[in-house]
This record gives sequence, C-alpha cells and structure tokens, in this order.
Amino acid sequence: MTAKIISGTEIREQILEEIAAEVKEIKAKHGIVPGLVTILVGQNPASISYVTLKIKTANQLGFHEIQDNQSPDISEADLLALIDKYNMDDSIHGILVQLPLPKHIDEKKVLNAIDPDKDVDGFHPVNVGRLMIGGDEVKFPPCTPAGIQEMIVRTGVETSGAEVVVVGRSNIVGKPIANMMLQKARGANSTVTVVHTATKDMAFHCKRADILIVAAGVPGLVKPEWIKQGACVIDVGVNRVGEKVSEKTGQKIAILKGDVDFDAAKQVAGWITPVPGGVGPMTITMLMQNTLKSLKFKLGIA
Ligand code: NAP
Repeated sequence: MTAKIISGTEIREQILEEIAAEVKEIKAKHGIVPGLVTILVGQNPASISYVTLKIKTANQLGFHEIQDNQSPDISEADLLALIDKYNMDDSIHGILVQLPLPKHIDEKKVLNAIDPDKDVDGFHPVNVGRLMIGGDEVKFPPCTPAGIQEMIVRTGVETSGAEVVVVGRSNIVGKPIANMMLQKARGANSTVTVVHTATKDMAFHCKRADILIVAAGVPGLVKPEWIKQGACVIDVGVNRVGEKVSEKTGQKIAILKGDVDFDAAKQVAGWITPVPGGVGPMTITMLMQNTLKSLKFKLGIA
C-alpha cells in the first residue's frame, strides 16, 4: 500500500479562499473586517519570519492588520499597557504576542493579560478551560491542534469510535489535540491514548492507532512497524537536521524532517502528512480562522 498524502499546502489554500469570501461578505453587510495586531518585541530572526508570514496572510485576506514592533528594552509594565490598549480597541479582534519574549518579561503574565475574547492563539487559561469543557464553550481552539483536526476532517477519515494515539503531551499540541479528539463532537468522538517519555511500550500503543498524531520533536521516532496498516498518520514534528542550498534562490535553507520515518511509513499507512508541507501551513491558517471567528462572535453571527 502507498499512503495518500494529506497536503497542508492545498488544504490551506481552500480554507484561505473560504475565509476571504466570508470577509468580503461581512464587510459588505456589516462594514467591518477582522482586525489582527501582532506584537513583536525585539529582532529574533525566527520571530520576524513568522510574523512576516502572518502579516502577509492577513493582508491577503483583507484583514485590518497592525504590526506593532517594540524595542527589546520595553518594560513589562509598558507591554502590559500596550496589550490593554488593544483589549479596548474595537477595531481589533485578535491579539497576538510573538514568543519568545526577552528574559526580563514574564511571558505568562503577558499572555494572561490578553482579553480571552481576543486570544486567537487560544493559550489563555480561560480558553484552555473552554476547550476542556467542549461544545459551544469553545471559542478559539489553539491553532496547530485545530489545523490537525481540520486536516483529518477534510480527508474524510472516520474519527467517531476511532482509536487515536497522540505521541507527546505539550500544552500547545499534545494535550489540546488529545482533548479535542475525545469530545463528543463532529471530527472527534474518538478513543484517545496519550503516550510520552514514561510510556513503557510505545510501539504497542502506536500500533493500535487508526489515527496516529505524532508531536514529539524527535526525528524519525515513529518506525513503520509501529504503524497499523491503513492508518492515518499526522506528523507534527518539525526538526532541523541539516542545511542545503536552495535551487530556487541559491541561499542556504534548513533541511526539515518529521517525527515519522516518512518514506517507510507511507508504504504502511493509508494517509500521511509530509514534512514540510503538512501540518506546518495549517497553523497560520487557523489563526486567521480564529480572528474571523472573533469578529463573528462580536457581531453575533458565529
Ligand atoms: P515539546 O513541548 O518538546 O513536547 C514534546 C512531547 O513529546 C513531550 O510531551 C515529550 O514527553 C514527548 N516526547 C519527546 N520525546 C519522546 C520520546 N522519545 N518518546 C515519547 N515521547 C516523547 O514539543 P511541542 O512543542 O509539542 O512540539 C513537538 C514537535 O512539533 C516539534 O518538532 C515542533 O517543532 C513541532 N511543532 C510544529 C508546529 C507546526 O507545524 N505548526 C507547531 C508546534 C510544534 P515528556 O512530556 O514525557 O517530556
């Protein structure tokens, strides 16, 4: 068997088209567009490239986009005051503070200062609680897990009653996706197992999975013999394993590998995500989706 490839790049394009159409419709009916502010403190190169991509996507969708760059010396109090300003701004529906922050600033304090109804990253404890409760309580599912679930739903793979095994229990991927897949809801209703570094027999659990979601950050951790024939494999891992020269630009670029041995796994799995081009492109897409949702909640049309 050769697995069908789940292309995050293609699914992203479909979702972005859907968002752009909705933005146009809301603008025509209500005279307002989703507003997103991205706060960047300092000049971390990786942060700059993430933020640039977010701005580009927001602009492409016709959002009202504010890029607020702050000096690395900004005090914690001034940053909290800035967040408060955007909390009160009616044209802003999503506030994003790019992490990491400089050492003199308490990240937790800053993230917790964002109005939970503008927390489109979904990391505020209020939104984590809403996600745990499920159903109508959920406002902003965190972006990477939301992207994973959306990819599974769009492949048509049955989730209800499926054995889902999640490798990893981080707060940004493993725990929330496990929680989302066990909810009694569309695209979920699964029997979920979470494995981690203290798990005694990883192969045993992974092999039972109809849907295997891997977010460990260990290149090639999941071997083909751990995969059930025909399973849907979602590889969240993004690991830099070297560098190469880009044929397009002639510049040095990172060689990225997932947590699954892709070439061997695709001979066993029914569906599989590549790295890069799988889960990666979905994260910013779901951030845009959450910002649109935030405006729709405000307008009472969500
Ligand atoms: P993390 O915070 O480092 O958590 C990794 C988790 O995997 C931990 O729960 C850890 O277990 C578990 N783990 C690590 N090695 C393991 C092993 N050998 N066997 C079993 N479990 C193991 O990582 P993360 O933030 O969730 O990210 C995971 C991967 O996803 C990374 O490669 C990251 O770059 C990628 N990622 C991609 C996106 C995207 O594409 N948009 C977004 C987020 C993350 P313990 O809890 O026991 O330590």
